[in-house]
Amino acid sequence: MQQILKGLKQFQREVFPHHRKLYEALSTAQEPRALLITCGDSRVVPTLFTQTKPGDLFICRHVGNIVPPYGGPYGGVSATVEYAVDALHVKHIIVVGHTDCGAMRAVLHPEKMAGLPNVAGWLGYVSAARDIVEALYPDAPEEEKLHQLTERNVLLQLKHLETHPPVAVALARGRLSLHGWMYHLDTGDVDSYDPDTRQFVRITFSDEDAATGTTPAEAGANA
Ligand SMILES: [Zn+2]
Repeated sequence: MQQILKGLKQFQREVFPHHRKLYEALSTAQEPRALLITCGDSRVVPTLFTQTKPGDLFICRHVGNIVPPYGGPYGGVSATVEYAVDALHVKHIIVVGHTDCGAMRAVLHPEKMAGLPNVAGWLGYVSAARDIVEALYPDAPEEEKLHQLTERNVLLQLKHLETHPPVAVALARGRLSLHGWMYHLDTGDVDSYDPDTRQFVRITFSDEDAATGTTPAEAGANA
């Protein structure tokens, strides 16, 4: 806790004053560009790997970057999606899975969830992805299965997103794009789902992008 309080002190005394105008402008309104849904894993820090500022991203984080299909009991993820799309009018929703995800590992090894009934129940929303991986890669090594499951889970949750009426309507109106990303903890790389090739493709940048600050080419902008 001491470390957290030390950080708070540093933020209030050094960081906040440096960005005072931005924080003041954001103190009464927000207009985020995107809803980003990712895992609660402490190693995944979206504002760090996208270098975004306060106000840029509406973020939903929990175990396994899951979006339950529409129609279940009222839940935080459904409310977040509805608010982001219909109230904040975000133009993009990005579902971000990551390497070495403990949630995905638990899906492959349900015995890890003994004594964790809420986690086990929640990860039931990954069942279809797990069944696909077990059907297509029954003899694959553990790490390959984990990689495949993490990617398939991102795709499954994108499908679930489309069952939510606000998302379905915004997609039909052409004012919303869905994106599936895979973040690599060990390199900082991000793979983006390309619906044309039906594969995750590394997002790369040319030297020109870096030099000019122009928008980089992004593989699979729309999942
Ligand atoms: Zn995770």
